[in-house]
Amino acid sequence: MIEFNAVNKWYGNYHALNDVTETIATGEVVVVCGPSGSGKSTLIRTINRLEPIQSGTIRINGQDIYDKKLNLNAFRSGIGFVFQQFNLFPHLSVIGNIILAPKRLAGLSDAQARAKAMQLLERVGLAHKADAMPDALSGGQQQRVAIARALAMEPPIMLFDEPTSALDPEMINEVLLVIRDLAKDGMTMVCVTHEMGFAAEAADRILFMDQGRILERATPQAFFNNPQHPRTIQFLADIN
Ligand code: ATP
Ligand code: MG
Repeated sequence: MIEFNAVNKWYGNYHALNDVTETIATGEVVVVCGPSGSGKSTLIRTINRLEPIQSGTIRINGQDIYDKKLNLNAFRSGIGFVFQQFNLFPHLSVIGNIILAPKRLAGLSDAQARAKAMQLLERVGLAHKADAMPDALSGGQQQRVAIARALAMEPPIMLFDEPTSALDPEMINEVLLVIRDLAKDGMTMVCVTHEMGFAAEAADRILFMDQGRILERATPQAFFNNPQHPRTIQFLADIN
């Protein structure tokens, strides 16, 4: 369970998260949407402690993640993060990218890490590319490798920040299908995306943000058919 309690964050004078209180249940798939600059990336990055907050608390399974005594490396290895840019290590092969953290951080042997990496590559449909270098892959393939790499540490939580927005249109679906498949697995997922079709099909709940606040939280059904907040209604009208 991820619990935000009265979280405030400023960048200088800019109030990027304004009194955010929200609970994301274990196993829940949450899509975060909202206009550009509304604080979506900031929100998701706080879950991984990538952004300092100035007040409030964020707890994961009861643990205050901004506690100074937290072991940051151990904490972060329990959260998979996939960004807009694929940022694979360019000098490592596909499988080299995936086995790195399990060997270094989880203490797996090379053989164990490779066996697991191959399972993950099967899962994202790229077993045949295990020995390729990242720059020989399409954007959609690179992003699927990035997802496999994030999964290699078996994180109970996966965060996605616009995982398809840097992709050519014909590659978006292959990545969304992989994420949708994961969503069925009982993993806790928070995904920032503008892909409303994906949100409708994969999300348990949608959070709509504007100006650093969560203005609406609803099931996809309610969100799309019966939005309550005027800003949500405007947003949905603008993207359609
Ligand atoms: P987008 O849809 O464009 O990705 P977003 O909803 O993810 O937008 P954030 O990136 O969270 O928005 O940014 C929220 C606000 O905070 C924006 O106004 C942004 O300009 C500002 N901001 C973000 N990062 C910084 C930073 N490092 N320093 C100063 N201001 C920042
Ligand atoms: Mg963003």
